[in-house]
Amino acid sequence: MTRAAPAIVILGKGSLATARKIQQIYPGALIHGLAGRVEEVDRVYQEFGATLRGFYQQDTPIIALCAAGIVIRTLAPVLLEKGAEPPVLAVAEDGSAVVPLLGGLGGVNVMAREIAAGLHVAAAITTSGELRFGTCLLNPPSGYALADLEQGKRFVSDLLAGHSVRIVGAAPWLDQAQLLDDPQAQRSIHVGSAEREASADELLIYPRSVAVAVSADVVGLPTAIRVALEQAKIARQSLACLVAADNEMAAESLREAALDLGVPLRFVAAQNDSEALALAAVPEAKVVSANNLAIAIADQPLNIAHVGRARGRLAVIGLGPGAAELMVPAVKAELARATDVLGYETYVRMAGPFRDDQVQHCTDNREEMQRARHAFELAAQGRSVVVVSSGDPGVFAMAAAVLEALHESSDTAWHNVDLEILPGVSASLATAAQAGAPLGHDFCVLSLSDNLKPWAIIEKRLDLAAQADLALAFYNPISRSRPWQLGRALEIVAQHRTPQTPVVLGRDVGRPGQTLRVTTLGQLTPDQVDMRTMVLIGSSTTCVFPREGGGQWVYTPRWYGSKPVT
Ligand code: SAH
Repeated sequence: MTRAAPAIVILGKGSLATARKIQQIYPGALIHGLAGRVEEVDRVYQEFGATLRGFYQQDTPIIALCAAGIVIRTLAPVLLEKGAEPPVLAVAEDGSAVVPLLGGLGGVNVMAREIAAGLHVAAAITTSGELRFGTCLLNPPSGYALADLEQGKRFVSDLLAGHSVRIVGAAPWLDQAQLLDDPQAQRSIHVGSAEREASADELLIYPRSVAVAVSADVVGLPTAIRVALEQAKIARQSLACLVAADNEMAAESLREAALDLGVPLRFVAAQNDSEALALAAVPEAKVVSANNLAIAIADQPLNIAHVGRARGRLAVIGLGPGAAELMVPAVKAELARATDVLGYETYVRMAGPFRDDQVQHCTDNREEMQRARHAFELAAQGRSVVVVSSGDPGVFAMAAAVLEALHESSDTAWHNVDLEILPGVSASLATAAQAGAPLGHDFCVLSLSDNLKPWAIIEKRLDLAAQADLALAFYNPISRSRPWQLGRALEIVAQHRTPQTPVVLGRDVGRPGQTLRVTTLGQLTPDQVDMRTMVLIGSSTTCVFPREGGGQWVYTPRWYGSKPVT
């Protein structure tokens, strides 16, 4: 399992220097600072408690630069919840102390040592086994899985009591451990992929060294795989990945099976039979057959990155209007897993910051089709590509361009890409929410840009929508190259609406310097609007009333005609 990059959480400016040093140790980590107290950070948060608990529940390692007591009290309410237990560390503001608090099995002591080394101090390790043996026996490195934690704890306390031990199988990471080694010892650390009966005398560690070759034709795949492993007497925990032929890349059943078993799915060129497939994926393996499936068993944990290749992924995401709180969690997760990020420079910058290993491909706003094709080329190589739009990607943005590129292509590699569109809060909705509910009844969304459609159709739609008494939302209302169109649009609307019709102008909504203005159709002039503005025009039923504390609420009632009796 690869863990998410840690979150470095600070409360004030005093910890910034230490936070930066820790960030050098974990280049993927972001520094989160308390709003109003410290600005020069990657992310600001409003509330310390909610932020810390949120990271904990999302299994994000936490490095908090504050008193250990604060961290303990803050996390106490979530500690008894089942599920995640990420590493949690408290680090003194000045970097003089590193205290691992939680997540012993998630490698917190390893992190404590890494951070302490970077800060030139000693880590405050308190785990007895770890102190005695110099390593946590219950937390083998990635590529290995402990069979049974509870049994492991008893085993370690036996060793702490002075029992000797022998190692069976290859455990290179224990070479440096200070164990009481004795070839005759009754207790053993057993490393191997064969399923074994648990025994109190054994610490069982399974290397993730097994791959199963699968095909979409097999019904009930997850069960079939479990049965095959059982028949071959291979531990379920040793399963490192599933492999399949690349002509089945898009098969939903394969993806579901991998998800069900919690292992990655890798692809190799199609072969004559499943033994050949298994061998193509893991050439050094011994291949056995069980329950009609071929199983590749290697001596060492598999380096998944070298087993065939992944199905590429392409996600077209919407950032929302700008503010981080308005970005949906699925989009945040997608950005974190991306290898490549494509988009108009402003939006790519808004989606960041990115890690050093994430490639940014910034392009001009107009090169949409070219960008869409580039995205498929990268994803078809197995990369995890994100195409960034502002607001919602399906509203006058990249999603349609990406689908058009795919529709035009006959390249199966493109069609095999795992394509997903992740929605965002569109500018019309973000603006409407700030004003109240001007789109509370039927409404019509239009782009006033005639770059990709004739102006005549825009006029026709405007006329009909206004006639139908729909509230209107105008995207791309005006630009330097389209100076007169908005004025003409307003003339058309004015033929069907009174000058008192409420109008909402939202500029840079959800971004720094945002403005919201409520006016009327009669007072609206094109010079009040620019290309960063969203224009909402009410219908005949849209109302306005004063808001306590200043400004106005705008809403369009849910009903039309006569108000229902309530
Ligand atoms: N996909 C975007 C829209 C892209 S079209 C979305 O769903 O929001 C670009 C137009 O959207 C701009 O000309 C402007 O009219 C509007 N817009 C985008 N972001 C905005 C914001 N933060 N505030 C106000 N209007 C915005």
